[in-house]
Amino acid sequence: MSRFLGERYQALEAYTPGEQPRDMRYIKLNTNESPYPPAPEVTAAMNREQVELLRLYSDPTAGGLKRKLAELYGVKSENIFVSNGSDEVLNFAFMAFGGKGAVFPDITYGFYEVFGDLYGISCEKVPLKEDFSVDYRDYLGRDKLVVLANPNAPTGMSIPVSQIEEIVRTNPDSVVLIDEAYVDFGGETCLSLIGTYDNLLVVRTFSKSRCLAGGRLGYAFGSPELIADLEKIKYSTNPYNINRLTLFLGEATVDAEAYYQEKCAEIQKTRAWTAAQLTALGFEVLPSRTNFLFARSPKIDGGQLYRELKTRGILVRHFTNPRIAQFNRITIGTPDQMEALLEAITRILNETV
Ligand SMILES: *Cc1c(COP(=O)(O)O)cnc(C)c1O
Repeated sequence: MSRFLGERYQALEAYTPGEQPRDMRYIKLNTNESPYPPAPEVTAAMNREQVELLRLYSDPTAGGLKRKLAELYGVKSENIFVSNGSDEVLNFAFMAFGGKGAVFPDITYGFYEVFGDLYGISCEKVPLKEDFSVDYRDYLGRDKLVVLANPNAPTGMSIPVSQIEEIVRTNPDSVVLIDEAYVDFGGETCLSLIGTYDNLLVVRTFSKSRCLAGGRLGYAFGSPELIADLEKIKYSTNPYNINRLTLFLGEATVDAEAYYQEKCAEIQKTRAWTAAQLTALGFEVLPSRTNFLFARSPKIDGGQLYRELKTRGILVRHFTNPRIAQFNRITIGTPDQMEALLEAITRILNETV
């Protein structure tokens, strides 16, 4: 730390991203990326002209992408905000709507707490129930920014839209942010509620189900007023927040919807197979509606399994928070990758336990 860092940032604990190693080729099951490439049409759309156009600024209104998203999801462009990854919407939402404090589960996406700290927002962390599910009653009538990932990460579990609606309805004077990063893998979206409630913000990303994590593209649905607030923050920080190539490829991605639906279905099939195999090996596997599984074995410590897999070239995500330290979060890869994972786990259980 230099002598110059502002006092309010000195104690800030930054978010730790999952490992992105460059030292060797791992089977990478640690950051919930898609194992599949973008749709062939997306790759084909990239060309020399698009690179040459980089001399021009990107469209700060992202009008083309908003129109395509609006058509696909049956909303208006004024209901949509687009961002540099969904982390940026989360950042802006904490900045804009966190004034009365924020509340979220003790076990959830780690970035929520970092944004809370960044803006000096007092954050209340509500313990998940014993079975790691969210009890929606903990979030009724809270009158602060409510932030829920649905499905939740890293548990993979979801709550029904009827419960989300109760939370939104009973917090009319504060924003309820529902992070739907994983909704395309079998979750239930609450998008249809944005016409009824002006305090609901639904956050999405192209990083997981749209095979575009490196492109950094996210978006949010909400009332035109909420969206206008986010635009105000954007135009006060970085008007050209999304680069030209990403906007261009994002539009091609929306056009290739059928490809992504198919890949999401494949991942759900592979997930069911993997969960059954892990269960047969004695693991407890939480019920997942995402592209990952959260699992623990009574036979091996979570940290040890993570390390043993890493030495065998397979990366999964382990969290040191004591409540979930026995678990690992395993991204669903291709069927071949999952077979390699299960073979490695079987060996580890035989050799080291
Ligand atoms: C991956 C993830 C994000 C961030 O996604 P980006 O769009 O890549 O910034 C947000 N929320 C949750 C719950 C995630 O798992």
